[in-house]
Amino acid sequence: MTISFWLDKNEDKPKEQYDVVIVGGGVAGAAAAYWLGRRKHLNTLLLDAGTIGGGASGRNGGFILRGIFAYYNKAVRAYGRETAQWIFRFNEETQAHLLELITRHGNSFSYVQSGSYLLASSIDELQELEESAELMKEDGFDVEYMKEDPLDRGYYGAIFNRNDAGVNPVALVKALAGISSFPVYENEQVYKIESTPEGSLLHTQNRVIEAQTVLLATNAYMPLLLPEFRNLIQPVRGQIIVTRPLKEAILDRLCYANYGYEYFRQLADGRFLLGGCREPFAKDEIGYADILTPDVQNALHHYLKDRFPEVAGASIDYRWSGTMCFTNDGLPMLGEIKDKPNVFYLAGCNGHGLGYSLALSKLLVEYAFDGASPGIFDAKRASLEKARA
Ligand SMILES: Cc1cc2nc3c(=O)[nH]c(=O)nc-3n(C[C@H](O)[C@H](O)[C@H](O)COP(=O)(O)OP(=O)(O)OC[C@H]3O[C@@H](n4cnc5c(N)ncnc54)[C@H](O)[C@@H]3O)c2cc1C
Repeated sequence: MTISFWLDKNEDKPKEQYDVVIVGGGVAGAAAAYWLGRRKHLNTLLLDAGTIGGGASGRNGGFILRGIFAYYNKAVRAYGRETAQWIFRFNEETQAHLLELITRHGNSFSYVQSGSYLLASSIDELQELEESAELMKEDGFDVEYMKEDPLDRGYYGAIFNRNDAGVNPVALVKALAGISSFPVYENEQVYKIESTPEGSLLHTQNRVIEAQTVLLATNAYMPLLLPEFRNLIQPVRGQIIVTRPLKEAILDRLCYANYGYEYFRQLADGRFLLGGCREPFAKDEIGYADILTPDVQNALHHYLKDRFPEVAGASIDYRWSGTMCFTNDGLPMLGEIKDKPNVFYLAGCNGHGLGYSLALSKLLVEYAFDGASPGIFDAKRASLEKARA
C-alpha cells in the first residue's frame, strides 16, 4: 500500500488525536470497538479503507461455527488434545457472547441458532467425523454423530452441532460497531504508521491521526500495510452464489461439507446460499482480486446440480468473492508490531473469523490494555518465527 507525492495532501491534513484507533472495520475491528466501549471511557476511532463490513466480514456465508478449519481429530493431532479442546471452548465463548449481546441490545443481525451439520463427502471423511465426535464427547462437548446422511442427498453421514448459528454478517458488524457510538470513518486507508514518543501517527490520504494505542484488524491486508507480514499471511479468495428466493423449504440447518470446502444454507427469505468449491483450483484462488473465476463458478453450479437438482434451475441473484486470511499453522495470530510499541494486531482466522470474532477481539483488547497473554495465538510462536526468518 503506497501513496504518491501528488495524492498525499500533506499541508492541508487536519491532525486529530485519539486514545485508541482501530484500523479495519470488519468483524474483528467492530468487535474490538464493542469490547472497548464496555470499559472506562477511551476516546476511540474506528476507521476503514472502504466501508464497514466491506472486507471478508461482509462477504462470507454468515456461519457462526464452534469449529475451526480442521475437524477436531485433526486439531488434536496438530495442536495437542488440551489446546484443541481450549480452542473449541474459546469459540463457544463467541456464541455465548453473541447471546448476551442479543439479550442486551436485541437481535438486529438475524441470528438463528439452527445448528449445523458437518457432512461427510467420503467414507474417509465420515471416519474422521466419527473419531472427532468421540474425542469431543470425551472432552465434554455437546455433539451428535450421525452415521446416516441427515439430508438424504448422497452424503455419508454427519456431525450435528446444535449451538451453531447463522447471521447476517454485515448487520452483525454494524451492530457491533454502533453500540459504543464511537466515531467511524469510512474510505480512510492508513498507508503509514509512524512511532512517536506519544504513541503513533497514522497517515491516510486526508488526515494524520495521533493515537496512544492502535489496534490493527486489517486481516488479509496486513502485508499491504506492513510488508514484514508477507511470509506470514496468505490471502485466499472464496466465492459464493445466492439464488432468488425459493418457495420450498429445503434446509433448516447450516451445512458444511467436504472438510468445509463446500458450505450452504437457506436464508430466511428462501434464498439458497452456496459457497466454496475452490479446492481443485486452490493455486488459482490466491490473492486480493475481487473477481469471479469460471472454474469455481462452474464447480458451484455443478455442485447444485449434483446435490440439489431442484435448486439448480433457479436464477442466481448474487455472485461475489471475498478474501480470507490464512496462516501457516491454521491459527490466528495476535501480537504487537515489532518496533512499534502499542500497535497491536490480530489476523488470520483461516476462514472462521465469525466463529472466533467476539472471543478473539476480547482477547486482543485484554492483551493490549491489561497485558493478558495471547496464549496459543501468540504471534511469537515458533511456527511463525520460522516463517518470519
Ligand atoms: C467467501 C467467504 C466465506 C466465508 N465464510 C465464513 C463463515 O461462514 N463463517 C466464518 O466464521 N468465517 C467465514 N469467512 C471468514 C470470515 O469472513 C473472516 O475470517 C472474517 O470476516 C475476518 O474478519 P476481519 O475483521 O478480521 O477482516 P475483514 O472483514 O477482511 O476486515 C478487514 C478490514 O480492514 C480494512 N483495511 C485493510 N487495510 C486497511 C488499511 N490500511 N487502512 C484502513 N482499513 C484497512 C479492510 O477494508 C477491511 O474492511 C468467510 C470468508 C470468505 C471470504
